[in-house]
Amino acid sequence: MYELICPHCDATVPASPAKAGGEVVCPACTKNVAVPKLGELKKLPRVDQDASSDSDDNAAHGLSGGRSMLFAMLGAVSLLCFLGAAFCGVNWASIESPGTTESHIEGLKENYEQISASRLIREYEDITEYGVDIPQPYPYRAIELRKQAWANKAIAFGAAGLLAAVIAVVVGRRKKA
Ligand SMILES: [Zn+2]
Repeated sequence: MYELICPHCDATVPASPAKAGGEVVCPACTKNVAVPKLGELKKLPRVDQDASSDSDDNAAHGLSGGRSMLFAMLGAVSLLCFLGAAFCGVNWASIESPGTTESHIEGLKENYEQISASRLIREYEDITEYGVDIPQPYPYRAIELRKQAWANKAIAFGAAGLLAAVIAVVVGRRKKA
């Protein structure tokens, strides 16, 4: 950064070499200040005295700019993933599961306790003769699986969002260091 003097209010205006030949806005009077070409700009007093050389300065600026982009992109990706997770979570919550395998077995047990011994024997004979005939899959099971699929998607989106957020934080930390 180099020090320009605002022609409107005489305040010092910092100008980066990237702005050479262009304009910067004066922070004091908010008017546009013309920035001289790079050769003339470099003759002006520097604002950041600690930077060792121009090339280092440029490299640092380019790098931090790239990192800021990466940080913003990761933040956006993370946000989208969390939105996706929320969407899947809402879908998961909105599917009312009519039953589980456990409750289904409970129901069957109750049925078998209620029916007569002769009926039970007939049922047993049927099973030995024809085998166990199960309508595939049970409707409640299909709904359960659909609900489970939404839950899996929500978890996957959430994990991806968390990962992007963690990487964003790591990139953000390194930028400050
Ligand atoms: Zn000014």
